[in-house]
Amino acid sequence: MPLVDIGVNLTHSAFSGEPQAVVERARRAGVEQLVLTGTSLTESEAALELASRLDPGGTRLFATAGVHPHDARSWTSASAGALRALLDQPRVRAVGECGLDFNRDFSPRPQQEKTLEAQLEVAVRSGLPVFLHEREADERLVALLRPFRDHLNAAVVHCFTGERRALYAYLDLDLHIGITGWICDERRGTHLHALVRDIPQGRLMLESDAPYLLPRTLRPRPRSGHNEPAYLPLVLAEVARHRGETEQALAAHTTACARAFFGLPAVTDENPGEPPQE
Ligand SMILES: [Zn+2]
Repeated sequence: MPLVDIGVNLTHSAFSGEPQAVVERARRAGVEQLVLTGTSLTESEAALELASRLDPGGTRLFATAGVHPHDARSWTSASAGALRALLDQPRVRAVGECGLDFNRDFSPRPQQEKTLEAQLEVAVRSGLPVFLHEREADERLVALLRPFRDHLNAAVVHCFTGERRALYAYLDLDLHIGITGWICDERRGTHLHALVRDIPQGRLMLESDAPYLLPRTLRPRPRSGHNEPAYLPLVLAEVARHRGETEQALAAHTTACARAFFGLPAVTDENPGEPPQE
């Protein structure tokens, strides 16, 4: 059963020079479709360009477009228009990543909130789903999302690492949840073991967040230390174990969920897409 990696930072310098090889290794590992994460307007444009170049057929590589809370201070009066122009590109399937990060506070919190709300307004107008980032800010995120929720198509809290309170608040708002290799980390991810059981089928998706979050269950560790979408099956295995599901069943419903959320085509033998060109 093919997997969809809903969050790959393929424009990251860790992959410079070999993004095609990363996509090819993912494909050989059964990770057939990737959604490239846009983290600023410049990076979103780069992600779109890279996806178009490596997948001219338009069936395997997609992108999001948005401004990460770390970059919230870069948001200006011209940004909404620039974002809307990116969202007009058919390969761009979600607004984000956007959200709140009160862990690192790289942008001032009021600026983070303003920039998030501006992007939620753009998302409402576009009808596209939202790809959300949250770290130590779940209560503010819920408060800011609530008035928008009925007008938003769908939204995923990507790389969920929070506690039960946050998870239940997100599910109450009918949000989707993205799980990464954080769950494979025996030092800080074990609280997720019990929580992933509570995420309903149809709301759960898997992601690598590569090159970050190399699953610590991977043996041997790659020399680069970088995570890749090709290691997503390790996240699948860990989540399946803690949900008491077979990997096959989990792959089937998370892939169906990701395709519905991002509006991705099914990749079949009749529709194999374009292999990456050397
Ligand atoms: Zn993030």
